[in-house]
Amino acid sequence: MPTAEIITIGTELLLGEIQDTNTRHIARTLRNAGIDLYRTTTVGDNLDRIVTAVREAIERSNIILTTGGLGPTVDDPTRNAIAKALDVELEFKEDLWEKIENHFMRYGRPPTENNKRQAYIPSGATVIDNPVGTAPSFAINTKNGVLISLPGVPREMEYLLDNSVLPLLRSRFNLEGIIKAFAIHTSGAGESQIDEKIEDLERLSNPTVGLVAYPGQIDIRVTAKAASLTEADQMIGTLVNTINQRLGKTIFGYEETTLEQVISGLFNKEKVKIAVIEFGMDGRLSARLGNEHVLLEKSLMLDHPQELCEVKELAHSIYSQIAPNWVFVSLLNVSSQEQINLSLFLLMQGKEFEKIRSFGGHINLARPWAENTSLDFLRSNFAN
Ligand code: ATP
Repeated sequence: MPTAEIITIGTELLLGEIQDTNTRHIARTLRNAGIDLYRTTTVGDNLDRIVTAVREAIERSNIILTTGGLGPTVDDPTRNAIAKALDVELEFKEDLWEKIENHFMRYGRPPTENNKRQAYIPSGATVIDNPVGTAPSFAINTKNGVLISLPGVPREMEYLLDNSVLPLLRSRFNLEGIIKAFAIHTSGAGESQIDEKIEDLERLSNPTVGLVAYPGQIDIRVTAKAASLTEADQMIGTLVNTINQRLGKTIFGYEETTLEQVISGLFNKEKVKIAVIEFGMDGRLSARLGNEHVLLEKSLMLDHPQELCEVKELAHSIYSQIAPNWVFVSLLNVSSQEQINLSLFLLMQGKEFEKIRSFGGHINLARPWAENTSLDFLRSNFAN
């Protein structure tokens, strides 16, 4: 399987002025095509630093994809840098210049002298037609494979990646395999608890199993490399069955499923109308539960309770006042980084459920953790 690297070029990326969405898009595309991505690098519009990055990448990997720096100005150094890195000259391509001229003419204005720069590409490179823009793309052989330079503009880059680059890579590297990833979502258990139960699976090499921790939610990613999609699906299916058996109800869904969708489904089934009183989460918990189920979001007139007993009292008074099926109170108390507590109380057709949880993560993550933990509390009490 060939290995790849991405080099995104642009000082504005390093300054944090724009987000590097090109790397993400290319990374996913390569993954789906069965190409192992080894490294991603971002460099500014600086000739020498691009030369160094390209030379290093060429030594390590078979496929190098660069984006950006192909414009007509002197600030667009990619062509020169790649020629220098590969020890070749820049070459003027008459046919490329004609295409650039035609592109401009279609928009009713002639190209400037500057645009001529874009008709120079490293000697020995093959032009990749860019029907969606003027920044020309090219592919050039390296000692271990190929380097392809793509425009920085995401729309142009994505078009060329799908329509020219992937077909080129498929035939050049006889790519038949694919990589497929599948996400399993859990809540109500910590990373170490999950890890304990599937530790052996995390050591497998294909499919691979990895944990991704979010506040109040742990995802398990199963990734398979296979010759076909059917084979990858089978490999993933077998492993997902094993994980299901080991983790049971800790799993709340797969792929795009969210906690709120699961709860909404349960609410619809049981025709639950719930009064939600939340503190410390800025109304986000009620918002996630959705209007169709929530009778009372939060009354600003209510005093912020301090203790679980006050929470209970509040729940009972709401229950008698507006008589929903359920009353749910979730109180997030953030006293300091060391003291982050969540008091949960659910009054459900005469039954009461309560829990106090504390959070050891960073204070900035307390809210999303509290939201997910509250949603998990509702979900788990459906079974009771
Ligand atoms: P052009 O000829 O249009 O200038 P180019 O190949 O020279 O194309 P750049 O000038 O480097 O590309 O970038 C053009 C624009 O594309 C940037 O201003 C930015 O908005 C976007 N862009 C560049 N690189 C990235 C990236 N890695 N991720 C997301 N957007 C990007």
